[in-house]
Amino acid sequence: MIIDKQTRPCIIPPLSRRIFLKHTTDQTIHTASQRLRRAGYRVTQQRLAVYAFLDGNRSHPTVEDIHAGVKEDFPRMSIATVYKSVESLVDVGLVKPIHLGHAATRFDATTEDHAHFRCITCNEITDVPMGEVPAPGNGLDRHEIIGSSVEFYGFCTRCRRHKLGLAPEEPQAQKLG
Ligand SMILES: [Zn+2]
Ligand SMILES: [Zn+2]
Repeated sequence: MIIDKQTRPCIIPPLSRRIFLKHTTDQTIHTASQRLRRAGYRVTQQRLAVYAFLDGNRSHPTVEDIHAGVKEDFPRMSIATVYKSVESLVDVGLVKPIHLGHAATRFDATTEDHAHFRCITCNEITDVPMGEVPAPGNGLDRHEIIGSSVEFYGFCTRCRRHKLGLAPEEPQAQKLG
């Protein structure tokens, strides 16, 4: 009988190496686990998978993008779980939210100060190095500032060329992890 294999209790494999080692080191996962644990969060495979997906990911994905990204390794993970995982990662400072008015919030695991360039046509967000964080002027003395964001916006290369009726550039070799 081969039923044996199917009736085994479902045990989550240790640090589901397939997803984590694509682009994330053990050390990164270890540090993330510690931060979560210290803040009182349960360190679950799902939470770590969400972090592993965001770590080194430059596309500034939405919760839906993250959900689609971790589905292969966690087919039963709900979007609500992704949402809660991201919330905990934001809470412990591993991930930064990028609020875009009415559009869905995007997430960024690059937490060092940097600016963004957002294409107003396709909504692509690109990281831009930033030398100095701009200091606020007068008038905020009774407010509590918890962060800042600098956004440049306009047309990305692709959309700009499209707008001008130019042929698309040769696709560049992309690093996908
Ligand atoms: Zn664009
Ligand atoms: Zn960014």
